[in-house]
Amino acid sequence: MAKVLLTGGTGFIASHILNVLLERGYSVTATVRSITKGETILASHNNIPNGKLSYVVVPDIAAEGAFDLAVQSTPPFDYVIHTASPFPDSFIDPVKDLLNPAINGTTGILKGIKAHAPSVKRVVITSSFAAIVNTASPPKVYDETSWNPVTWDEAVADRSLAYRGSKTFAEKVAWEFIEKESPGFDLVAINPPLVYGPNTLNSLNTSNQRIRDFIQGKHATANELPPTGTFLWVDVRDLALAHVRAIEVPEAGGNRFFVTAGHCSNKRIVDAIRETHPELALRLPRDPVDDFPGRCYGFDNGRVGRVLGVEFRSLRECMRDTVSSLVAYIL
Ligand code: NDP
Repeated sequence: MAKVLLTGGTGFIASHILNVLLERGYSVTATVRSITKGETILASHNNIPNGKLSYVVVPDIAAEGAFDLAVQSTPPFDYVIHTASPFPDSFIDPVKDLLNPAINGTTGILKGIKAHAPSVKRVVITSSFAAIVNTASPPKVYDETSWNPVTWDEAVADRSLAYRGSKTFAEKVAWEFIEKESPGFDLVAINPPLVYGPNTLNSLNTSNQRIRDFIQGKHATANELPPTGTFLWVDVRDLALAHVRAIEVPEAGGNRFFVTAGHCSNKRIVDAIRETHPELALRLPRDPVDDFPGRCYGFDNGRVGRVLGVEFRSLRECMRDTVSSLVAYIL
């Protein structure tokens, strides 16, 4: 069975990708920032046969040559899934904390594979709706042809654009690398919007924090919820499957995939939680105002179904399982 290098193995999305890969029989090496984190991953999969799961330490993806050793393995890797990138709820320096790691991490791994891992056939990178969205001039329908027009100067000057810039520039350098360097592998970009889903780790990922706030009663007395921001979402389990299908389906190569289940808003999330977890009703905002716009942008997620064969879970199912996982962890 094929062997996969999965970067950012401790991450929320990567932990679900790892589950799907192992369920389907792949051998996986995860990159992590420390031995302790690697041992935690091994301990949480202690039922996996010897040799099927290992880790390699890559402390900082932004460092020159960070992946040069990690991409070399015996037997060699067939595929690389690159999820590692900063997705913080706060940061100090946009260049040092967001832009450099996202961009250098992407070019670093592509260069490392080209130089040291000729067996790799395909690289899948976790990009984002952040690389698609165009707030200044939104199209009627977002799809894989849409690109965020953010500039470097805007991303550095405006803190609200730094993360979006990091994902946009990182994806762009990846496509440019394929074009200019003609490596022996092809590329797939996976572009999810807000990702929710069961928490599998002992830390809470950034996007699930709003669900935590709802069920902890942070907005119980308010009619106004915090702004939804992005009115599109996907369940992390469907997103994980999309990453794995992206290495399995030959026709996926050379494509972006806009992996979204559809529209949502904070009010719709709260309503779903009220339905699936009525015992939490008193903690939830009672009758919140919905900020979902009358004329919201549309989306076309058809390529995901057509090419990858992935179907999407409902928001209700996602919230049912997300809240159950969080209740055990935080309440
Ligand atoms: P997490 O923060 O859970 O995971 C990020 C991973 O990247 C962690 O393993 C982290 O390591 C690693 N990482 C970050 N910076 C560095 C660095 N400088 N050097 C080495 N490793 C680093 O985020 P998600 O799982 O949610 O996100 C994964 C990917 O998906 C990211 O590329 C993100 O941009 C993208 N994405 C996420 C969305 C979401 O809603 N969650 C939406 C759209 C895209 P450690 O844990 O040790 O810090």
